Amino acid sequence: RKLVNIAGINIDNITMEQAVERVYSFIDSGKNHSVYTPNAEIMMDGITNKQLKEILNSADILVADGAGVVLASKILGKSVAEKVSGFDLAKNLLIASSKRPIKFFLFGGKPGIPERAHANVICDYPGAEIVGTRNGYFSQEDESEIINQINNSGADVLFVCLGAPKQEQWIHKHKEQLNVKVCMGLGGTIDILAE
Ligand code: UDP
Repeated sequence: RKLVNIAGINIDNITMEQAVERVYSFIDSGKNHSVYTPNAEIMMDGITNKQLKEILNSADILVADGAGVVLASKILGKSVAEKVSGFDLAKNLLIASSKRPIKFFLFGGKPGIPERAHANVICDYPGAEIVGTRNGYFSQEDESEIINQINNSGADVLFVCLGAPKQEQWIHKHKEQLNVKVCMGLGGTIDILAE
């Protein structure tokens, strides 16, 4: 793994193609993995917030979402290979899954949004399989039921769209209980898929 250290946060120096391959290697493995895609604002928060920094650095793939992070790496003389945004990675996985199947679960967004995203994905990405959806508005008492729903779906890849840093904290907290292979923090991606 080639990492670029930006003020204590280790970003993967990885191309889109390599990121997709890594996700497939996670799917073939026996355990759960985390993929985070911080933008410049979340990177700034992570630089000053020790707990968030630890969460970001615990990721199995950490990619720079946004030109700001790529620019920061250039200024530091440690250019990252290319910009791999959360939405683009999600899109590339949906496309790739028509040839090498992946079971996706869409978690997050306002009520109705993940269902709309599901309907659009079926039309826009023929062959992509969504095995469950759940909106991102819940109380703590609902969490065990949400985790059961995800675990019973048989999903490989969980899109977690609760906004940053809530989604990263949620994934970090529940990683061991989630019976999936990859949890991805993807913020507003669910809203774009629902458009
Ligand atoms: N969201 C959610 N639960 C929450 C807070 C936010 O599901 O408790 C969803 C929100 O509806 C939106 C997504 O998280 O679909 C991303 O929110 P935001 O625009 O803040 O995301 P970011 O800037 O992190 O991409």
